[in-house]
Amino acid sequence: MEVYEGKAKRVIPFDNGKAIMEFKDDATAFDGKKRARFRGKGWLNAQISAHLFRVLEENGVKTHFIGIAGDNRLIVERLKMYPLEIVVRNVVAGSLKKRLPLEDGTELSEPIVELYYKDDGLGDPMINHYHAKVLGVSEDELREMERIALRVNEVLRKYFAKRGIILVDFKLEFGKNERGEIVLGDEISPDTCRFWDAKTGESLDKDVFRFNKGDLISTYERLYKRLTGETPSHR
Ligand code: 5GP
Repeated sequence: MEVYEGKAKRVIPFDNGKAIMEFKDDATAFDGKKRARFRGKGWLNAQISAHLFRVLEENGVKTHFIGIAGDNRLIVERLKMYPLEIVVRNVVAGSLKKRLPLEDGTELSEPIVELYYKDDGLGDPMINHYHAKVLGVSEDELREMERIALRVNEVLRKYFAKRGIILVDFKLEFGKNERGEIVLGDEISPDTCRFWDAKTGESLDKDVFRFNKGDLISTYERLYKRLTGETPSHR
């Protein structure tokens, strides 16, 4: 069976409807132009993703998460992935500044949902429902993904707020399981979300790597501790 190798993860499918998702220590940014390796990052992202998938499941969101299979590996339901990235934003940051005349850090009056076509060659362009339909994704499927994405936002925004963290924005990916259900896949980690400390505004996510704002591992460790209450035990 084919192994899917991405920039930060590897997915190994099995015949029994399950797959192993392995998180690497590699970090990339700006379409792979900036690269580095951080020992322990794979462990931290696997554990943080597992934690957030559990929070979502407890709140009625169906995800591909089944369990933890070892240090930097999760057992997940096998999905046929859509070639889409669904981004949800609560606060102005990152590429939104190129679209709206709003300053960094402005809270949005309501969340914005954006659709991107996942294609490295094209640089993950932003697309709309018409483009997605030509790519073979129906209106019903798009509405379902957007509905789940907004529900994820509701659950996680509250969850992070209670821990003194602002959920600025995040990226989700969806797939279809063997029963034809649309399920949240991929990861939810500081690689795929922006988290700001509510008091200091400090980034607790991959922006520390993108913009050389600090040490990635100690930042991800602090996030892990604030979410789980535990001291990280990666090697
Ligand atoms: P932006 O469009 O501002 O660059 O990103 C918005 C949010 O989605 C950020 O939290 C960012 O981390 C996440 N995001 C968008 N595209 C990607 C991507 O291709 N890979 C990853 N890991 N995260 C992404």
